[in-house]
Amino acid sequence: MSNSITLAPSHDDPRLAYLIDQQSLFLLVVIFGGMLVLLVLEQLWPRRHSMSVPVGHWLTNWFLASINFFVLFWLTLQLGNWALLRSYFPDPGLYERLQPLLAIALIVVLVEFASYWIHRLFHRVSGLWRLHAVHHTDTTFDVTTSQRHHTAEVAIDTIILLPIFLLFGAPTLILVSYQLVRVLLVLFNHSNIYLPAAVDRVLRNIIVTPDFHRLHHSPDPQFTNSNYGTVVPWFDYLFGTARKVPFEDTAVMPVGLEYLRKSGDSRLDRLLLLPLMWRRWGLP
Ligand SMILES: [Zn+2]
Repeated sequence: MSNSITLAPSHDDPRLAYLIDQQSLFLLVVIFGGMLVLLVLEQLWPRRHSMSVPVGHWLTNWFLASINFFVLFWLTLQLGNWALLRSYFPDPGLYERLQPLLAIALIVVLVEFASYWIHRLFHRVSGLWRLHAVHHTDTTFDVTTSQRHHTAEVAIDTIILLPIFLLFGAPTLILVSYQLVRVLLVLFNHSNIYLPAAVDRVLRNIIVTPDFHRLHHSPDPQFTNSNYGTVVPWFDYLFGTARKVPFEDTAVMPVGLEYLRKSGDSRLDRLLLLPLMWRRWGLP
């Protein structure tokens, strides 16, 4: 699932104005900077070893990341500012009526719950799957895969998740911080970094680990349709969609889909046209 939402709140707190004004630039630096750092770490401690340097795959995913970032930025501006959106929610917001920690916990649970079910819908509904399949066509699973999403999927995600982010009327700093943590966790759980089995075993109860998410990218449908969590695995455990295979297996299992595995299938124009051309290309 895509994970980036740019918030455009009113600048009611002058101390935060600079951070908010620079938020998009900040997010851009975090996404591309984080990708570069993790790409280096993947070379130093790879989970899966490869003899090739997948330059074409990196360029495709970076290009999609760039397109999606600017569309997201434009869309957020079109959706209006925070003040306008907030006018549709109760005032004072739930954040002010609850204990701050309880309110933050509720925001996290609600956003992650929505994110889990949106992801399940993208797998269940054929029209949505044709968009989300772009993410799953990557036959190389590394940090850049995290940004490989069809632009329409990013737009749908944003339109649904943005109001949930704003529902509680939480302070800007908290929402921006939460968003940055989500971006970093999504980069991390798509990375090809080696985590010892013992660390993965403990960590996968709290956050989505690379091994937990890599299984979701297996071409085997029983695994593709599992491990839906974007940054936390809690709802996979709750709703019975968490799967696990022996530690050694996730290091060597194939990734991608059973179809669209040729290098030409990952050409940028073909990825963007995939949802429209699905039937014409005879895809299942
Ligand atoms: Zn998926």
